[in-house]
Amino acid sequence: MSVVHLLRAELELTTPGGVTAPESLTIGSVLRPDLPIATDGWGNPYVPGTSLAGSLRDHTPEDERETCFGTVEQAEDGAATKVVASAVRVLGTRLELPDAERTVRRRTAVDRHRAAAQENTLHSRELLPAGTKLLVWLRIDTDTVRSAVVDTFIDRLSTWRPYIGGGRTTGYGHARLLRVLHRGIDLGTPEGLSAWLLSGGPNLVDDRATVVYDHAERGGATQAPPLFDQPLRFRVADALHIGSGERLERTNRTGVATVLRGTDALPLVPGTTWKGVLRARCELILRSIGADACTSVGGTGLCGDCDICVAFGWTEKSGAHDDTPDEERRRSIGARGRLLFTDTPLHGGRIRTRHHVALDRVFGGARDEALFTEETVEDGDLTLTIRTDGEISETARAALLLALCDLADGRLGVGGSTTRGYGTLAPHPDTAAFLDEQRGRAMATLRAHLDATTTEEVPA
Ligand SMILES: [Zn+2]
Repeated sequence: MSVVHLLRAELELTTPGGVTAPESLTIGSVLRPDLPIATDGWGNPYVPGTSLAGSLRDHTPEDERETCFGTVEQAEDGAATKVVASAVRVLGTRLELPDAERTVRRRTAVDRHRAAAQENTLHSRELLPAGTKLLVWLRIDTDTVRSAVVDTFIDRLSTWRPYIGGGRTTGYGHARLLRVLHRGIDLGTPEGLSAWLLSGGPNLVDDRATVVYDHAERGGATQAPPLFDQPLRFRVADALHIGSGERLERTNRTGVATVLRGTDALPLVPGTTWKGVLRARCELILRSIGADACTSVGGTGLCGDCDICVAFGWTEKSGAHDDTPDEERRRSIGARGRLLFTDTPLHGGRIRTRHHVALDRVFGGARDEALFTEETVEDGDLTLTIRTDGEISETARAALLLALCDLADGRLGVGGSTTRGYGTLAPHPDTAAFLDEQRGRAMATLRAHLDATTTEEVPA
């Protein structure tokens, strides 16, 4: 081992995200988000190297994993354990935050029967803004200056599409690789040895490295593929209110419930809303035709086997299987969804302030202290693109398409107050034509699925 290869990979978050550290909450943390950003000893946001090592390992093809990232294998007879150390070492990471502040997003689950927020599910999550840069330093030791392991690893890096932290299926933590810098230090030469002994830390690679990958030149890994051939464009038909959970305080009057906005101040429909609304509708569609689908909220819990669980992901309810044997419990921890939803900004919308008051049922006038004010978005346009991070079944795709048809037909709304005229979307002509054209095929797919899964009773 006489040549030390040091690499610096520069990543950028394209959507808000970050690794959370709920374990850092203490009894006195009432004012902190339920899922705060992980921080180092000085209180600065931090992404642990383990998170990236895991992602890189996952990205490497199986036959190269052992050479790059090592392995621990238990032999069949249990006697000999094969252990190979990882050739790639993650030395450390550093975050460079843009001017934008850390944001906090709130989310809740909606009970499928009452169509209202489920109790005890509201929680908040702290996020680093999009545009945050993440620098990762890596080290590989080899015998020679030119090494196949290093070349293969750099090749793999250039197609890496990392996700930082959790929530990728609701649009959090999507990142892209901007640059990779490389410096090989040959400890067999006097120059190499003196460089290695006389300097240290990030400067070793930062000052004297060559750029081996540049996103601006090579284009790099594209985003995950979209599920449908064309983006779906909608216009807000009436008004839309997706609250940020915050209030704008005004003097002498009630506070205004503000709408959720992105870093560029445009109102947003968050990925969590799309995922929740469309999942609930897909479940309803499948259940109403007699197909197998579980009720994800307010029912018996997720099964983990149906097409919807596979496409949208599932988690085990805590404590739900306390009487299950250990073997079963280890298996049933859940799985990540394969559909990716992201925040969609509303372009060209007007933000208006609407006042509401409750009426006194006896006197017919406005009830005391029941006035409330909220912001709404009117006339905005949005483009919804659903991407896939793995194979989903034809049945799930068909149910999702029919759910989008319901959204386009106004049978389904997004955001708050959908039962009093808010949240209806109207499709643009090209989207309406696309959904109409696909609807027949989706219904045929569901019919075929039913024929294949139900057995007809033959009269004796
Ligand atoms: Zn299920």
